[in-house]
Amino acid sequence: MPVKKGKFKKYVYCFAGGKAEGDASMKMILGGKGANLAEMTNLGLSIPPGFTISAEVCKIYYELGKKWPKGLEKQINDNLKKIEKVTKKKFGDFENPLLLSVRSGAAVSMPGMMDTVLNIGLNPDSLNRLIEKTDNERFAWDSYRRFIQMFGDVVMGVPHFAFENELKKVKDKYGKQLDIELNYEELIEVVKNYKKIYERFTKEKFPEKPKEQLYKAISAVLESWNTDRAIKYREINNIKGLVGTGVNVQTMVYGNMGESSGTGVCFTRDPANGENKLHGEFLINAQGEDVVAGIRTPIPIDELNKLLPKNYKELQRIRKILENNYRDMQDLEFTIEEGKLYILQTRTGKRTGASAVKIAIDMVKQRLITKNEALMRITDDDLDQILHPQFDTKELKNKKPLTRGLPASPGAAVGQMVFNAEDAEKWADLGKKVILCRRETSPEDVAGMHKAVGILTSVGGMTSHAAVVARGWGKCCVSGAGEIDIDAEKKEMKVNGKIFSEGDILSINGSTGYVYQGEIKTVSSSLSPEFKMIMKWSDNLRKLKVRTNADSPEDTLRAVQLGAEGIGLCRTEHMFFAESRLSIFRRLILFAYESRRIESVLQRLSSDSERIALEKEYSKVNKEYKKALSELLPLQKRDFRGIFKTLKGMPATIRLLDPPLHEFLPKNLQEQEELAEVTNISLDRIQHIISDLHELNPMLGHRGCRLGITYPEISDIQVRAIIEAAIEVKRKTRKNVLPEIMIPLVGHYKELQLSRERAEIVISKVFTEKKVKKGYINYKIGTMIEIPRAAVTADEVAEFADFFSFGTNDLTQMGAGFSRDDAGKFLDEYIELGIYDKDPFQSLDIEGIGKLISIAIELGRKKKNKLKIGVCGEHGGDPKSIYFFNKAGLDYVSCSPLRVPIAILASAQAVLIQKSIVSKKKKAGKKK
Ligand code: PEP
Ligand code: MG
Repeated sequence: MPVKKGKFKKYVYCFAGGKAEGDASMKMILGGKGANLAEMTNLGLSIPPGFTISAEVCKIYYELGKKWPKGLEKQINDNLKKIEKVTKKKFGDFENPLLLSVRSGAAVSMPGMMDTVLNIGLNPDSLNRLIEKTDNERFAWDSYRRFIQMFGDVVMGVPHFAFENELKKVKDKYGKQLDIELNYEELIEVVKNYKKIYERFTKEKFPEKPKEQLYKAISAVLESWNTDRAIKYREINNIKGLVGTGVNVQTMVYGNMGESSGTGVCFTRDPANGENKLHGEFLINAQGEDVVAGIRTPIPIDELNKLLPKNYKELQRIRKILENNYRDMQDLEFTIEEGKLYILQTRTGKRTGASAVKIAIDMVKQRLITKNEALMRITDDDLDQILHPQFDTKELKNKKPLTRGLPASPGAAVGQMVFNAEDAEKWADLGKKVILCRRETSPEDVAGMHKAVGILTSVGGMTSHAAVVARGWGKCCVSGAGEIDIDAEKKEMKVNGKIFSEGDILSINGSTGYVYQGEIKTVSSSLSPEFKMIMKWSDNLRKLKVRTNADSPEDTLRAVQLGAEGIGLCRTEHMFFAESRLSIFRRLILFAYESRRIESVLQRLSSDSERIALEKEYSKVNKEYKKALSELLPLQKRDFRGIFKTLKGMPATIRLLDPPLHEFLPKNLQEQEELAEVTNISLDRIQHIISDLHELNPMLGHRGCRLGITYPEISDIQVRAIIEAAIEVKRKTRKNVLPEIMIPLVGHYKELQLSRERAEIVISKVFTEKKVKKGYINYKIGTMIEIPRAAVTADEVAEFADFFSFGTNDLTQMGAGFSRDDAGKFLDEYIELGIYDKDPFQSLDIEGIGKLISIAIELGRKKKNKLKIGVCGEHGGDPKSIYFFNKAGLDYVSCSPLRVPIAILASAQAVLIQKSIVSKKKKAGKKK
């Protein structure tokens, strides 16, 4: 609305006398607190009358160099008059003084970050009236003393400790322990001394004029928007796009006026478990801060029914009104002043994951919200909480974290520290709970990682080895805790000057990344019928299928129980890390290396005698190579049989070996010596092979399909194991088996062409050997799209692929050029600077990597319009990325087992968001 000449914009919005100039939809103008006070006033609830100065004033205040905009003072005074009329009191009056509170309140709640000043208007005159009215001299003088302290501290910057020291001096003088033990005469002394302190620090007298107090308090609250702590809070919580804080000026009400007064906080439902009953606590004859100060123990809200039954009934009535109006659980503050109940604040209540799910379902049953609204209300964090054990929130409140890393795999874990995987296994076998603390983990550590209850690393990002493996198992992991210095040899960890040794107890929170010294109690929750209901409703809506990344029958089963519709990524390398297999696989690598070396020398040799000698060696080495391969075959087959059986006819995408071979070879001398003994290859030679296989940039090295092309026998054995297992399971169970063989790290279509041709030969052979018809197993051969080159030539690649699966971890690594293991060292700063919104390894960089994905989908489907396309990188379990995958037209997402429910819900939410965007666009089109 244009502002008429000579008139000022509306800066002040009144809520008094049952009418308000705003409502709950005006949070951006009035702030959350102001908008809700207006809404509640309109609902006819008893709200202490007041007015809200709009958040825009805060912006203008800074633009004008900390000055009020013109017209604001007049609007404040006009509104003060309205309050005086309704309350029949007067601000600054001697007879019937009006006392006010001034509180901050931005559109997004920033608890405790900004300032409040209470009891404005108190001076010697109004103090006397307060004494007369309340007949409580102690209360009045205590209010005055609190006011001077609050005003001095918040408005004038008098150091808090100066007042605190003074209070202590008086208490000591009279032998009192607690503030409440001071009588009114002693408080008069405190007030006198407080005023002296005020004068000493501010060089002015404590203001007695109520207007001066009010104006100064308003400016102070405006300034609290830009204190260091408020700025930091907004930064940490990613609060952006707000112009400032609203300022709420409101009539004071007192809960400390005797036995028919009190104050409390309550939730309209139980925030811990969602039970549909009033939940909270209160204190009789107390002020708001007494409830939180912990000096007196608050009483459960049900007791109010016995002490002040009329008010309790009223509170129950208000609970219903608020829930019907807001259609969500509310967290409210109330004060009872001499038998009259006032609501001071309401806001949407914070709740646990279990409670969020129960409340959403119950509210659908009550017809307060629709099923779709219920689905939109539940977050990935809610489900994460339900699926993993968490720290007891009460205990957590009193704990100070030691340090913080990345929340790599959610849940809470408490255990004794160990510094290598072997110790983790040993200690765990003795029945101890251990946290495996490593600089970083490597495939060699998996057995120990598996036995540990939690994993902590000092380096590595969200898709580092530790993070990916832990998430796959649903095990708690904090990665990249950079302040930690781990000395594996000394079995010691240093952090912020403290030293920890083997056996010390640590608690780690994989949902937040915090690390704590000592033990914190954990709580676990089970899957409720309400949780299952949410999954069912999501299933009815979603278009995306949800698969899981799993490489053992146990993990597969867990995922299937949570709703997975197949495996989207079975990383076969994980199957080689069990101790019994690792030694076979190490032998296999050494002999594969040696036979490849001899083959290439043989090609160059011309002298027959040399050839004969070398051919002999070759046949020996090759025999060993084949032996190792044949030992591996039944083991791999057993793995696949287990997985196929568990899947009961659902598809399984099995990826052929991906990591570079050096990752499997031993780093320590003892293991190298053992390997020399079993292979009969000299230690020197083994060390030479290890160093030759070592790569400076292994992520871009000899891995993925490059391995299969140069060591085809390894891929052959894997393909054979998959198809033989499929035939055996199909024969035995008479259920369909749908293997999808996935070739990793393809960049050029010829890599896939070669790999596919080779695999087809093996499959045909197996069919013949097993005497089954060609189509007995309906297998597919496809590829991962994880190299940008493959994405932009996806039409060529599609020719040889039955399916694509986006490996968004590597695609992000190679597309953005960030090492997935090291980028954590600077990504935080990148996010702070706003270069990236979020860690692109956690939430897909839609504008960049998303574009590569869109190109690949378009090109791939141009070639094969029914090409099946999924995603199996970590982003397959991230809701924001899932919205993108849904829109991009993917067939499925695949994620670690415990993220399956999150992906199911997010897929349904993606459909709802998409629908609402489309209908908004349609409406906008019609308007035009
Ligand atoms: C990927 O790169 O996204 C992927 C799933 O493979 P990995 O994480 O095993 O490299
Ligand atoms: Mg990859």
